[in-house]
Amino acid sequence: MVSRVIPVDTFDLVIFGGTGDLARRKILPGLFRRFCAGQMPADARIIGAARSEMDSAGYRDMVRAAIAEFGGEQACDDATLGRFLEQLSYIAIDARGDGGWAELQEAMKGTDRVEAYYFSVAPALFGDIAERLQKWGMADAGARIVVEKPFGRDLETARALNKTLATYFNEDQIYRIDHYLGKETVQNLMAVRFGNMLFEPLWNSQYVDHIQITVAETVGVGGRGEYYDKSGAMRDMVQNHLMQLLCLIAMEPPARFAPDAVRDEKLKVIRALDQPEPHHVVRGQYQAEPMNEAENPGYRTAVENARSRTESFIALRTEISNWRWAGTPFYLRTGKRMSARSSEITVVFKDTPHSIFEEDAGRHRNVLSIRLQPNEGITLGVTIKEPGPGGMRLIDVPLDMTFAEALNPEEVEQVDAYERLIMDVIRGNQTLFMRGDEVEAAWAWTDPIIEGWEARNDVPKPYDFGSAGPTDADQLLRREGRAWREVTT
Ligand code: NAD
Repeated sequence: MVSRVIPVDTFDLVIFGGTGDLARRKILPGLFRRFCAGQMPADARIIGAARSEMDSAGYRDMVRAAIAEFGGEQACDDATLGRFLEQLSYIAIDARGDGGWAELQEAMKGTDRVEAYYFSVAPALFGDIAERLQKWGMADAGARIVVEKPFGRDLETARALNKTLATYFNEDQIYRIDHYLGKETVQNLMAVRFGNMLFEPLWNSQYVDHIQITVAETVGVGGRGEYYDKSGAMRDMVQNHLMQLLCLIAMEPPARFAPDAVRDEKLKVIRALDQPEPHHVVRGQYQAEPMNEAENPGYRTAVENARSRTESFIALRTEISNWRWAGTPFYLRTGKRMSARSSEITVVFKDTPHSIFEEDAGRHRNVLSIRLQPNEGITLGVTIKEPGPGGMRLIDVPLDMTFAEALNPEEVEQVDAYERLIMDVIRGNQTLFMRGDEVEAAWAWTDPIIEGWEARNDVPKPYDFGSAGPTDADQLLRREGRAWREVTT
């Protein structure tokens, strides 16, 4: 493998919630992969800090098991794992009390390394931890904090959280995670848009008919039923992940690929986003799998709330009121228990103004599709002549750039979103993290939509297990002479 890894500066990373699900599934296996790749310095320290009583040896055992379970394929031997584990320690800490803080303070005393604190705990504890970091002298100007989602549940709570964090930390110390921004293809979206001359002149309402963003999941709410039922697809997916994708696809070219230059442009997009009309929003709740209800129950059974009005699916149409995009619809769609796990952004260009080919009956549109998962890659649909005799018949073929095929996978290091983002924290690069005002603007757009449902007692439409959502979602596009891309892997 060709490695272009540049080691980061040495660091101390404290993971609050270091025994939790996210730490075990993503953060710690991700750090191990960076260690194997030679990016994590041999004297960096990782300190797990959580409620459970255990010692550092017990913590290392837990992390070893987590890496075995979630570490993925890794050309890394047992001796390397042993060395990685030696860099780990554990402190039992009480986020709401004083227990453990003196010990953490002692451990962090007098180092001149990068200091990062990952808040991988319930959001209700973010403020408690920030306050205690300051009280115990760890909130110095060089410290960085990493904050997980959800960042508030509406504008008011997001503002309150921003205010609390701002009491102890400056904005340039706060790294709000949206792991979609750490995905390889999402960054490639920026490379394709701003690294090629080809697309930018066409990237506007004059040439683009519409844009679709789909994030489809096959999983249901699983064990998160109680949390999810208070949240729903709008809060859980649209306000953050789909909004971020929308920003990157629609923003003006920033002057530089620098944190505030990019985030300023994203913010402008959110602020220019129209409120969708009520009939431009479709909400749904998945039904049970036929004949297998016990294993795959319907949404209301899964969340144990027979009268739930929370959506597990949402499709909506909006527009961006600025010079570039006025009049171009943006269709967003996300849901659980859909037919395939698939995340895709599709830019559908307009028809040619006139066809010179007599035998050309159909419409031929260029379609650029950016696939985030699975099979990351970019495809551009172009129109060509159907090969062979018989006159000038046109067909659409994809110019396919599935990255795994275009680039030798042996030579490309696969980096998970969390790994990339954690390394960015250590490097002090905030480009792929959400700024406080962005999050608030996204809630300011989301809140009235949710309030509208509440005021109208809106009930989500049922949709079939393994489908593309309620049929009304198809209508959303069909009545405008358009169609969703098929949800396939
Ligand atoms: P979890 O319930 O599995 O773990 C919570 C952790 O917090 C545990 O380590 C626990 O010991 C610690 N903790 C709880 N109360 C504490 C206290 N009073 N003092 C100190 N430590 C305490 O949660 P999780 O699934 O790992 O999620 C953590 C955060 O990450 C949450 O904000 C969640 O919304 C977010 N998140 C999780 C996932 C995921 O896949 N699990 C995905 C995205 C975001």
